[in-house]
Amino acid sequence: MSDCLFCKICAGEIPSAKVYEDELVYAFRDIAPQAPTHILVIPKNHIPSVDGITAENSAVVAHIFEVIPAIAAAENLTGGYRVVSNCGADAGQTVPHLHFHILGGETLNPKMA
Ligand code: AMP
Ligand code: ZN
Repeated sequence: MSDCLFCKICAGEIPSAKVYEDELVYAFRDIAPQAPTHILVIPKNHIPSVDGITAENSAVVAHIFEVIPAIAAAENLTGGYRVVSNCGADAGQTVPHLHFHILGGETLNPKMA
């Protein structure tokens, strides 16, 4: 999608602090980190949110969940980490391109909402 911030980041049109990349997935540091380690993992193909995951495109989501533990290990998140995906307005989703936050590097707030 030409007008999508995260599609532009994947394409290298907007700079980002890359953490990991392969043919399907791109991961980069969140510009406004909410924990000592805060990384976003996104599919390179445009999926608007969790609501847009279907039988046709879900393979990339499985792949993302293979990549996440590898990133966590590379980032030395040995104490654990949280994976979050905000979907829609009530969850506060601000970028309409599917992304999974990896948060860690400290003891996280036990409250989820
Ligand atoms: P969400 O609120 O769940 O949609 O998450 C969007 C995330 O994208 C927020 O945590 C923002 O800080 C982050 N973000 C927005 N623009 C950029 C950018 N140019 N580079 C890195 N992270 C960004
Ligand atoms: Zn996009």
